[in-house]
Amino acid sequence: MSTSSYVDTRLLINGEWCDAASGKTLDVINPATGKPIGKVAHAGIADLDRALEAAQRGFLAWRKIPANERAATMRKAASLLRERAPEIARLLTLEQGKPFVEARGEVLAGADIIEWFADEGRRVYGRIVPSRNLAAQQLVIKEPVGPVAAFTPWNFPINQVVRKLGAALATGCSFLAKAPEETPASPAALLQAFVDAGVPPGTVGLVFGNPAEISSYLIAHPIIRKVTFTGSTPVGKQLAALAGQHMKRATMELGGHAPVIVADDADLALAVKAAGGAKFRNAGQVCISPTRFLVHNSIKAEFAQALVKHAESLKLGDGLAEGTTLGPLANARRLTAMAQVLDDARSKGATVATGGERVGSAGNFFAPTVLTDVPLDADVFNNEPFGPVAAIRGFDTLEEAIAEANRLPFGLAGYAFTRSIKNAHLLSQQVEVGMLWINQPAAPSPEMPFGGIKDSGYGSEGGPEAMEAYLNTKSVSIMAV
Ligand code: NAD
Repeated sequence: MSTSSYVDTRLLINGEWCDAASGKTLDVINPATGKPIGKVAHAGIADLDRALEAAQRGFLAWRKIPANERAATMRKAASLLRERAPEIARLLTLEQGKPFVEARGEVLAGADIIEWFADEGRRVYGRIVPSRNLAAQQLVIKEPVGPVAAFTPWNFPINQVVRKLGAALATGCSFLAKAPEETPASPAALLQAFVDAGVPPGTVGLVFGNPAEISSYLIAHPIIRKVTFTGSTPVGKQLAALAGQHMKRATMELGGHAPVIVADDADLALAVKAAGGAKFRNAGQVCISPTRFLVHNSIKAEFAQALVKHAESLKLGDGLAEGTTLGPLANARRLTAMAQVLDDARSKGATVATGGERVGSAGNFFAPTVLTDVPLDADVFNNEPFGPVAAIRGFDTLEEAIAEANRLPFGLAGYAFTRSIKNAHLLSQQVEVGMLWINQPAAPSPEMPFGGIKDSGYGSEGGPEAMEAYLNTKSVSIMAV
């Protein structure tokens, strides 16, 4: 597969791609080589002002289009994405590192999510509520909230935009994204599909630059009516506070620290395949990545051995190379973070059963890692490692495992493996997470709510709940005179 051609990314303002007014750009680095491969435009305030005005005009045009026609345009964009999936996936792998198969899967899943939201947008119904005065008719009307500012991270450059964009467009909102400077070309290709499908100018916009400067300007700006962010909990808390200060609707999809409870009656092979696969997907840089493996002491040694075997079977390499199943980490910050996580775990007495080291000196490659006998105070058991590290501890009773699962302030995803329906009920009632998968890997389908509780944020990016986040509810009462 060609690794040579990558494209520079410009700003999308009012339906046209343009350079920043200042002409400023940032380098984009290939994480498999550590070398620059292209550039991305760096927006300043003048660019943001133009993007905001365009988003306002785009909103006024898009909201007037009937929902069935909006759905048809969104479906057209989804089919363009499918047609272009191999090329977009190649760009995604070049800038983010994940294996090409995962990148293509992300683009195709993006098309699927857009189609689901397109159809859901046709079913945004209000209500007629019987009045206490028969001369009056009471209506509950749903209206788009307005122009949306979306802040998306580098781990799923397409998917993180798609879940926000799908719900925003389906409800009649316009959408202005600040996508990641590190992985700009694939989200740009995603938005190009909407431009080509015929959304009115300004309905979708895309900027890059200094994240803090852009978010503080957009969130405070009166044109923006809704804020949606995916990223770390500390940044999410800052943006949520800013949104609150300006009374803006907000959805926050933040960090997690997913527990994986493997009960003594679990199908061990299934648990290793499902949780091991989920752990090392996207090199562990996933908010719902399984992280704290809590395994019944009677099967802990066998489970650890099997997970080590799984980790050692992965083929680490350039995501565009044939047969690669684990790519590099997306940026050099993650390599530093992994070294710190491993130093801390070793110093506190954890055993490195496999991996634990950077691989090679070019690119951000880190060996898939399994830690056993991890003490509770190790950093990896308390803060999201966001990398290819699985940490295992034993437990004796399910109640003990549930208490550990709930110990941290996070509550995004959780996993459990058990053959007992009684255990499954107990787990589904007591594990404090927004999403729980029992006897399977993560399956975040667009029709199911997606989001967290506690420090993992609020709001949903899936299911009808995701639509509600972009809608205002208006009560209207009409008296016949
Ligand atoms: P970070 O916390 O600074 O950034 C996380 C994301 O937020 C990036 O996309 C960044 O561009 C954006 N961001 C940062 N400051 C911002 C601001 N003031 N306004 C708007 N956007 C802002 O650091 P990082 O090194 O990119 O990632 C570190 C940690 O973030 C990871 O360890 C992980 O815990 C978390 N993260 C989570 C997700 C997720 O899917 N929930 C994705 C990426 C990163």
